[in-house]
Amino acid sequence: MHLDSKHARIFVAGHRGLLGSAITRRLQREGFDRLLLRSRHALDLRDQRALNHFFEDAKPEFVVLAAARVGGILANDTFPADFIGDNLRIQTNVLHAAYKAGVKRLLFMGSTCIYPKEAPQPLKEEYLLTGPLEPTNEWYAVAKIAGVKYCQALRRQHGCDFVSLMATNLYGPGDNFDLQTSHVLPALLYKVHSAKSRGADSFTVWGTGTPRREFLFCEDLADACLHILKQPEHLLYQAAPDGLLNVGVGKDITINELVSIIQQVVGSSCSVQYDLSMPDGTPRKLVDVSRISSLGWHAPTALRDGIQQTYTWMLQNQIV
Ligand code: GDP
Repeated sequence: MHLDSKHARIFVAGHRGLLGSAITRRLQREGFDRLLLRSRHALDLRDQRALNHFFEDAKPEFVVLAAARVGGILANDTFPADFIGDNLRIQTNVLHAAYKAGVKRLLFMGSTCIYPKEAPQPLKEEYLLTGPLEPTNEWYAVAKIAGVKYCQALRRQHGCDFVSLMATNLYGPGDNFDLQTSHVLPALLYKVHSAKSRGADSFTVWGTGTPRREFLFCEDLADACLHILKQPEHLLYQAAPDGLLNVGVGKDITINELVSIIQQVVGSSCSVQYDLSMPDGTPRKLVDVSRISSLGWHAPTALRDGIQQTYTWMLQNQIV
């Protein structure tokens, strides 16, 4: 059932994360006045009993499941047990509690890494489970696939209106700039800025710089979430009969092209050193955005503008 009241009780799970905080800001700006927000200390989503109590007491009508253990290519490879275990626990608990509580619509955040490594590009939703995964993030991907399938199963068996959004590489204000665990865009913003501040000649790019990635601004994904929450059910499932929707900008660039944009934004001309001991990961993951386009949604923010806003946030918050 779609969202049509500013007084609906909406639970944003993971409201302190990059996406969750963007959605929360957006909903507050739009005047939604019954947001349900719980910090990790107040409610551990890995604890099914605590979560059941929360759903019984707070009675959320809509859920945006943006809570997850996330990280870049190195973090995924270093902490495989955390990535698969925490994500399986969080999503299984939330999806089960939401089904039991009769939630009207739930958005589950999938990821484009769920698609097979060698799938044709752009990636269509129907390519799910048609081939082997990229090994550097298979732990995270397997958990997310389980979440997508659980949403589908709950819809099929119990009629739950649970939709999975497969977002491309997300970035924006509030990002993680820790070089060991971050994704490439905030990592390179940090590295280019700090190289410039130190007067260094060069900075390091992992891998060959040739992989292609598609970058989505967190405020744009928040915009897409609201758009999908408001979609009438018949239109939503006409566009996405299996409950899967890619969310991206429909355009990708190489890591080297990303480096040039970041250098322009930061105002730096340091040279690049490639660390070939680090993995490239999947060569490309551009999503097909036909389904969400047919629902009238397009990512509004240009990459350079989004990077500029993220850089401004990084400076204001004295990250470097
Ligand atoms: P992925 O999209 O799951 O592979 O995750 P990342 O955002 O971590 O990495 C994307 C690509 O950027 C990979 O090819 C990385 O090797 C490359 N890359 C280049 N420099 C960096 C860096 O400093 N940090 C990260 N995380 N990735 C980098």
